[in-house]
Amino acid sequence: MYLYNSATHKKEEFKTHTPGRVEMYTCGPTVYHFAHIGNLRSYIMEDVLEKYLRYEGYNVKRVMNITDVGHLSSDGDTGEDKMLKGARREHKSVMDIAKFYTDAFFDDCRKLNIKTPDVVQPATGCIDEYIKIISRLVDTGYAYLAGGNVYFDSSKLKRYYIFNDHDEEDLAVGVREGVEEDSNKRNKNDFVLWFTKSKFEDQALKWDSPWGVGYPGWHIECSGISMKYNGEYLDLHCGGVDNAFPHHTNEIAQSESYLGHPWCPQWFHVHHLNDPAGKMSKSKGEFLTVSLLEEKGYDPLAYRWFCLQSHYRKTLVFSWENLDNAAAAYTKLLNRVAALKPEGDVDQAVFGEYREKFLQQVGNDLNTSMAVTAVFDALKAKTNDATKLAVIGEFDKVLSMSLLEKAAALREKAAQAVQTGGGDYVITGEGDPEIDAKVLARYEAKKAKNFAEADRIRDELKAQGIEVTDVKGGASWKRI
Ligand SMILES: [Zn+2]
Repeated sequence: MYLYNSATHKKEEFKTHTPGRVEMYTCGPTVYHFAHIGNLRSYIMEDVLEKYLRYEGYNVKRVMNITDVGHLSSDGDTGEDKMLKGARREHKSVMDIAKFYTDAFFDDCRKLNIKTPDVVQPATGCIDEYIKIISRLVDTGYAYLAGGNVYFDSSKLKRYYIFNDHDEEDLAVGVREGVEEDSNKRNKNDFVLWFTKSKFEDQALKWDSPWGVGYPGWHIECSGISMKYNGEYLDLHCGGVDNAFPHHTNEIAQSESYLGHPWCPQWFHVHHLNDPAGKMSKSKGEFLTVSLLEEKGYDPLAYRWFCLQSHYRKTLVFSWENLDNAAAAYTKLLNRVAALKPEGDVDQAVFGEYREKFLQQVGNDLNTSMAVTAVFDALKAKTNDATKLAVIGEFDKVLSMSLLEKAAALREKAAQAVQTGGGDYVITGEGDPEIDAKVLARYEAKKAKNFAEADRIRDELKAQGIEVTDVKGGASWKRI
């Protein structure tokens, strides 16, 4: 596979420290609020990457942290504690907030067909790891105590900026976030490893440490958790592009200073989901969540389909209209798959040819938009339906769009309506489940006010010699 590596700014051949094995780490959510669909875009694309690597035969171990302590509203360790903010907002304890939003996050992931990582570790469960790393950093002179906190000394590094040649002035953390700079820091890019003197009197979670009772900074979590489960050599680190600086930069700084050798050679960053006006933020306008999409009648997988249509290194522009288009395309695809008849033998030569083309696309820096095109190409292939179904089922092991399951459900639903005469829509015809499925899909498209799709299905039926008549409580069809 070829993958763009943001640490080298190049597309490179994917390599691992141990052949056949991938140690993969993903920065997890800070569980103080529902996940924004913009953040979920990263997890969708990382999920495709993971599934592709597994499909290619790698033994993948994917680890994710859950940030339930130490993440301040500025990624540069200033501002308010996000978890405390959430707890105050909802008059609950920090632990209750963490539990509630962790569950909500994984509910969202399930609805989006995002696999749960092999290891999910809340930050509060690895305090000993952080203390071990920080102790060595203090002993070796990479960290210092000031004002009661422990800071990483960024001036000890030959190279601090890994992902960009930043203009330091632009990235002065305090300026960037519009909050007060921490006067204990010796250098602008120093960051907190351990807080003891906190301005948060009501900080509920505190632990004993060699530097006093306190709690870990946000950045040390990911290094500690990754080293505990992935070992000293990480192959692939993932996250949203907004984490590249300072979070990932700081992870590298502390990990390599601690280990004394390179830590993670490959970095995968997913770009933003923006509204047409610019970056989508949680404080501006409508807060977009999976639940909101569902309330508005969208299948969460339509959002996954929307994400797959675009490359992960491009900003994706979200609008309801864009989502409508993706949802319509997804419905259309399901109807076309539902109409395939699972009869005949799979043509192995055709199957192999399409599979190869698909893997080439995904293996080329995760080109999911071309992979989506490959699905439509397979539908148009000059081969029997059984082969098409086999090809699409194979693609879906990586894309995870539930194509075969949803198509089967569509067929089943149409057959049931006919058999029982029950439900709210009865189809009468010659008892052909594929035709019934299309007739039902036409009805559902009309119900969803997607008239273009309804007309398209009617035309498709007409081309097959089927005439549909709307009757009270349903439809009847006949061959003409
Ligand atoms: Zn992280």
